[in-house]
Amino acid sequence: MSEIIWSPSRLKVAESCMAKYYYMYIKPETSTSTAEMAMGDLFHRLMQEFYKESGEPKYKSAEAFANTAVARWQFMIRQEATKGRKIVWGYKAEPYVFKNKIIPETGNIIYNTYQNRIPPVENEFGFNVEIDGIHYRGFIDAIFPFSEQTGKVAVADFKTHRVEPRKEKLRTDHQFTVYHLIVGFLLKNNLELRRKVGIPDDLAEIVGIDGVYMSPHIEMQWHQLRNGNIIPTERTDKDYPWLVRSIEDRVEQIEKQNFSRHPGYDCNFCPVKRKCDGDLKSRIKLEIPESPQIEIFPTPEKKKKGLRKHQYKLKL
Ligand code: SF4
Repeated sequence: MSEIIWSPSRLKVAESCMAKYYYMYIKPETSTSTAEMAMGDLFHRLMQEFYKESGEPKYKSAEAFANTAVARWQFMIRQEATKGRKIVWGYKAEPYVFKNKIIPETGNIIYNTYQNRIPPVENEFGFNVEIDGIHYRGFIDAIFPFSEQTGKVAVADFKTHRVEPRKEKLRTDHQFTVYHLIVGFLLKNNLELRRKVGIPDDLAEIVGIDGVYMSPHIEMQWHQLRNGNIIPTERTDKDYPWLVRSIEDRVEQIEKQNFSRHPGYDCNFCPVKRKCDGDLKSRIKLEIPESPQIEIFPTPEKKKKGLRKHQYKLKL
């Protein structure tokens, strides 16, 4: 079986519903996007471009930022696609409800939240590392400079979800465990990044001591873009075995072709709901196709273009 390269979002999908994993990663041609996902893509892109090199916001006002967001949303409506996936609207007026209300409101909140903040030192930071035989690849939304005050490096994951997670739920979210693990690993192994983040030399050694997976000098943060709240969440080394166990369990399920459905509230926002419902009705069994034409774990486009400027490939 091909090696599985775990991104935080791939793991999240696999943990939430194996049928969804099947449709999104094994037969990805069936994957579409929802309005919520399209909005997430839009604001992630805008957050990457939010600051000038000088650290000032690129936009003169909240209104200017919100107008840019609306213009890009309008373009998405015309294209009916985001990141190459077709957007399936939940109802006829949905694109316009987003355009006239949700997008400008969120744009205003984002501008007011971030205009006076210290900008991140890295945006959309690519990683490609192997730790204890598990291969991880993905992008980290933002890494902020080391704070003398807290003794920590803040790492943000931008979210456009309607509802904030409960703190207890976030505490066990493996997506954040992966980010924490990876940033600690990179800070330990990459001098350039460590300097860029501004970690003092006397602290450098304890940022990632050998044997420590979850550095105490990292604070993961959920940035709720719709209301400007920032929810911190901590990880310790005790979280690491749970992460590995979860990944091993998912691999076992895939090897056994166990793509069971996990129906629940999340089905309402599921990008493959139509396909899932259709196959369920027709009693189609979800199996890994035998055809060698179909790559079981497809390589994202980015790999074909080579590593990005700040993407690292490291092995422990
Ligand atoms: S609709 Fe529900 S059960 Fe079906 S793939 Fe999506 S989350 Fe899983």
